[in-house]
Amino acid sequence: MMKEIKCTIIQDILPLYIDEIVSQDTKEMVDQHLQHCEKCQKEYETMKRKLYIPAENKAPIIQKLNKTWRKKKVIISIASIFVTVLILFGAFAYAFYYETVIPYSEDLFKVEKQDDNQLAFHYFGESYASVNETHPMTFEIDGEKRNVSFIFYTKTMTESPSRNLFNNEKRSNEQKYTFILVESDKIDAVYYVDFDVEKVTAGKDSWASILERAELIWEK
Ligand SMILES: [Zn+2]
Repeated sequence: MMKEIKCTIIQDILPLYIDEIVSQDTKEMVDQHLQHCEKCQKEYETMKRKLYIPAENKAPIIQKLNKTWRKKKVIISIASIFVTVLILFGAFAYAFYYETVIPYSEDLFKVEKQDDNQLAFHYFGESYASVNETHPMTFEIDGEKRNVSFIFYTKTMTESPSRNLFNNEKRSNEQKYTFILVESDKIDAVYYVDFDVEKVTAGKDSWASILERAELIWEK
């Protein structure tokens, strides 16, 4: 089987061999010949370079693809920067504008009757976003008519009372925010509770049920 094949025959076949359109038998025959024939090997290398990379044909397509891909990459980068900025802005906006209710705690809130009979409301937290307060409303509590004021404070993430956990500041007990409750001469009791006036107006909540879940923090 292993007859010596002439180099000219091999070289005639080489273009087909390089293009991989020869039969398995032919391929093996050329393989074997190339292994021991330096001359055909050289021919093969030269031919392969010429045949395999037809510079004018294939290169532009590859370059074009690369350009398109590069453009896509740039668009993707810009898109991801945009998304990142949006996420950062979202987090920023959330931290600064999204208000949550500061839960009641004895060390944070205190009502105090001043010498002038006004009711002072103290907040001992770091800071707050808003105070929500009602005018005194009349309720019948244990058979007695009482004028009740509701109040709650909100914070944003940047104003969290627990913020000092993160920045190692010691809260001074002296520091407080104080204001005088509206119509404080009429108030019999002050309750801390989260309420939404719009819900009450819309009939989804009532002052009676707000009173039920409220925390009494001061009474006459
Ligand atoms: Zn040869």
